[in-house]
Amino acid sequence: MSGPTLSSEEIQKWLQTDDPARERELFLQARELTVRRFAHRIVLFAPLYVSNVCVNNCLYCGFRRDNALLERRVLGREEVRAEAEAVAGMGHQTVLIVAGEHPEYAGPRAIAEDIASVQKIPAIRDIKVEAMPMSVEGYRQLYEAGARGVILYQETYDRATYAQAHPSGPKANYEWRLTALERAIEAGFRRVGLGILVGLGDVAFDAAMLIAHAREIHTRFGIWPSTVSLPRLQPAQEAPWSFYPPHPVDDRAFLRLVALIRVALPEVGMTLSTRECAVIRDRALEMGLGVTQMSAGSRTSVGGYTSKNQDGQFSIQDERPVSAVADRLKSLGYEPVWSEEEGP
Ligand code: SF4
Repeated sequence: MSGPTLSSEEIQKWLQTDDPARERELFLQARELTVRRFAHRIVLFAPLYVSNVCVNNCLYCGFRRDNALLERRVLGREEVRAEAEAVAGMGHQTVLIVAGEHPEYAGPRAIAEDIASVQKIPAIRDIKVEAMPMSVEGYRQLYEAGARGVILYQETYDRATYAQAHPSGPKANYEWRLTALERAIEAGFRRVGLGILVGLGDVAFDAAMLIAHAREIHTRFGIWPSTVSLPRLQPAQEAPWSFYPPHPVDDRAFLRLVALIRVALPEVGMTLSTRECAVIRDRALEMGLGVTQMSAGSRTSVGGYTSKNQDGQFSIQDERPVSAVADRLKSLGYEPVWSEEEGP
């Protein structure tokens, strides 16, 4: 099932409407579609940062190459295993391996070794990867190592803003990033997640392009992306654009954005991370706007679950422990589930 095609002009109108009846209609439609396709189940997961060494210089990220204040760290095999054990101890069964971009420390071979280390923890049933764009062969290495999902955000689809935000390093190559998930699918992955960094580019344009990108994947490969994500820019060390987002989006517009994406992509799951505060995460759930996956108890620093390292990629807004998030979900009428195998 495919939702309506939305142009950036239409999205802009929806985001700016001052007609409460129109807004209510949008929220109701989003809620209905979410319940019909995904019931009341939310998949919980945790990111596991394995390296903060990065050859790129993204102006919004604390791991950027020019951040001289950051202590750089690459986890060894035993450290990755210990982090996975700590994450499993929190109740998680799904891990998202995250790394800065580096051909040696975060290339296919290194990430495949990280996957093997996480697999040593039997409680972890599902491993996904969010790392640099790779070749088909590179993604095949990750798949054969046991990962089952690839997450990769275009950040912004506006080429001019993209070029400004990524002034140097391999990430400056817009096309290589844009086509990465197609290569992941060619390598065997059936679960891919795309997203935009909300606050970076014009949000109406980026949302329209995100919808088009998801549809393109469906048209070409016959599968919908498993998730879309709408992370909003949050403050990060030595990252100028993280403090002054070029296109800030307020809470109300953000909730409308979540609903619009749900209506346009009724088959696609949606992740809301701890970049959002507890109030907004709870609000999106209360309203049933479309969220189907959430990170919980997250650390965005390398080794953050087993050490005191607090040098995160960005600041976390929802610091509730996993148990508190799971309890809140239940109190709102949701069933927390621990891997995509259990749905939705
Ligand atoms: S967003 Fe990713 S690629 Fe860019 S600086 Fe941060 S870790 Fe590196």
